[in-house]
Amino acid sequence: MTGPSTTMMALRKHAAGEHALHLDEVPAPQARPGWMVLDVGYAGICGTDLHIVDDEFPSWPPVTLGHEFMGTVRELGEGVEDWSVGDRVVCEPHSLACTRCHLCRRGLAHLCAHKRSPGWGIDGGFAERVAVPAHLLHAVPDKVDDVAAGLVEPLAIVVTAFERTPVPPGGTVMVIGPGPIGILCALTATAAGAGRVVLVGRRSSAVRLELAAELGLEVWDSAEGDVAERAYRHTRNRGIDLVVETSGAAAAVAQGLGSLRRRGQMCVLGVSGEPTIPIPWGLAMNRAADVAFSLSSSWSSWDAALALLARGAVDPRPLATVFPLTDWAQAFAATRDRGVVKALLRPVPHSTTRSTP
Ligand SMILES: [Zn+2]
Ligand SMILES: [Zn+2]
Repeated sequence: MTGPSTTMMALRKHAAGEHALHLDEVPAPQARPGWMVLDVGYAGICGTDLHIVDDEFPSWPPVTLGHEFMGTVRELGEGVEDWSVGDRVVCEPHSLACTRCHLCRRGLAHLCAHKRSPGWGIDGGFAERVAVPAHLLHAVPDKVDDVAAGLVEPLAIVVTAFERTPVPPGGTVMVIGPGPIGILCALTATAAGAGRVVLVGRRSSAVRLELAAELGLEVWDSAEGDVAERAYRHTRNRGIDLVVETSGAAAAVAQGLGSLRRRGQMCVLGVSGEPTIPIPWGLAMNRAADVAFSLSSSWSSWDAALALLARGAVDPRPLATVFPLTDWAQAFAATRDRGVVKALLRPVPHSTTRSTP
């Protein structure tokens, strides 16, 4: 504990564009009833943050960015039970979900139209401290260190996708797009019992493809020949059981549909920057494909992601490059240029990190 202080540093969006991002000194958040204040340990920059900066994703500025973070409980608001100061936690970003709509009542609060997440709807984790509703927290197991905990949100996104389209035991899984979500998909599909997992990417993502190969994943360069033809050749002409599309590119969607076996499944995680993209409709019909679009992260996926980390079944730490919060501009630039796989901001560089026992 660093004692009470009334101000802190926070990376705030004031208007559209990176020139309107500032590291500001702002009043530290207070714990109101039912909420808690965390000391932020690590906070991840994701593709959505770039869209938020550019006003391609809704936000309510002025607002502190950062929807993916781990932290340590600093202060409990009135009425908060089951948590103690010092607990290490991660936080689902589903704040202000209404609890009354048909989605909330179905247990799909992450899809509630009223939700305003930390990092775009309310102040987020690119700061020394963040205030969050207590009911959204998940405890970080002792075996999971702070850096791995800082990567739980993208892993929960991946687990949610596999809740929609489960990994077939012993089956073939193709993941398209070697970004952090794609690599985590491939690692998770492997952990979940796939027989063979291939990760498809472009040579322009060299840093990411190299890391994936170092992690022991089978990597296919999409520039080397026709992906669908290769998929059929490698599966004795059956095709792929499950394709997970994480790139959002029209060509990748076509490759994925072409690679599917008949009655195969495709899960879509990639966000296209375009309102429409061409889809080879006849090919999808030929494959009799089941296609699911997976958005955000379910409540159940958070504990499942933490359990995968605690067992060591998935280790996301090699993906991370840590920047002090003061170097946020370099971290955003490296994310834009794909010079890193995943940038984590560290608001309090001198705080102690727990390592895996
Ligand atoms: Zn994100
Ligand atoms: Zn709702």
